[in-house]
Amino acid sequence: MDLCNTHYYGTRDPFGSRGDFTTAPEISQIFGELIGAWLADCWLRLGSPKAVLCEMGPGRGTLMKDILRATKHVPHFHASLRVRMIETSPVLQAIQKKTLSGAHSDIEWKSAFEDMPSLPLLLVANEFFDALPIHQFLNGDVERTIGMKDGNLHWIQEGEVKLENSPASLAIMKQLAAHISIHKGTALIIDYGYENQPGYETSEGADTLQALKDHAYADPLKVPGEADLTAHVDFGALKEAAQGLSTHLTTQGDFLRRLGAELRATALCRNAPQEQQKTILSGLERLMSSEQMGTIFKVLAVTSSLENPPGF
Ligand code: SAH
Repeated sequence: MDLCNTHYYGTRDPFGSRGDFTTAPEISQIFGELIGAWLADCWLRLGSPKAVLCEMGPGRGTLMKDILRATKHVPHFHASLRVRMIETSPVLQAIQKKTLSGAHSDIEWKSAFEDMPSLPLLLVANEFFDALPIHQFLNGDVERTIGMKDGNLHWIQEGEVKLENSPASLAIMKQLAAHISIHKGTALIIDYGYENQPGYETSEGADTLQALKDHAYADPLKVPGEADLTAHVDFGALKEAAQGLSTHLTTQGDFLRRLGAELRATALCRNAPQEQQKTILSGLERLMSSEQMGTIFKVLAVTSSLENPPGF
């Protein structure tokens, strides 16, 4: 999964109608604007310190662009920030640099959450954890493994998947939590996933590995490295890995609603031509409705000291 996704993201721009899938910041600018406001609010509550604004897995850079645009007029906010983008794909790094050209004076790219300035952290990761590799287990704790026969990948063990885990995700969560414990700050993690049991909302069972190609589901073992491989994020496990910090979890729909997404949409519609009004409203509907991304997507905030962060 790691090798496949490294190749997949390393060789293309997978987003949008001509790619394989679309993400929230590509659907509506309101997503990034509200996250920007949320992060600026955290920064104010922390006492307006010098801080690192970090995004993991920034895709086309659209979310960061909207965050920076929406917070431009928060006094002293931008001047207090060092912006760090964590991205392994050279192709996407190049696109992000173009998207963000001129957006901030202190912005650097890294391929892992390392060598971070010793400052409070304001971190966001949208659809990042779902791309990290998982293990799957069958009855009796037997790990499901993959072999190759006649040039094709195949499952070696047959049977129903009972459990998934993602040590790679937990290791990153622990790194973030360690930084926040020492230097303060917050991490906002948005992804599709579950808190207790995989599949409990969709009754699809514990096997959440999926491949997307051309906006359709594909067999995860066919065309390795040419389809987007993801698994649902185990938010319960991420919370546990952030032990000692305060954690808050809600659905994307509720989070955006409580932050005033509908008010923002109304304001945007006021000056927009009718065609654009439709796009604004249908985009928001897609992010917030339970039938679409509103419930299956969750928002987890991991914070050093912030009681009752807005949106939860
Ligand atoms: N956040 C973006 C993109 C999500 S797709 C959006 O919402 O549109 C996943 C992103 O994570 C891509 O940018 C991909 O290249 C990056 N990525 C995947 N695995 C990574 C890893 N191990 N380290 C850093 N970035 C990674």
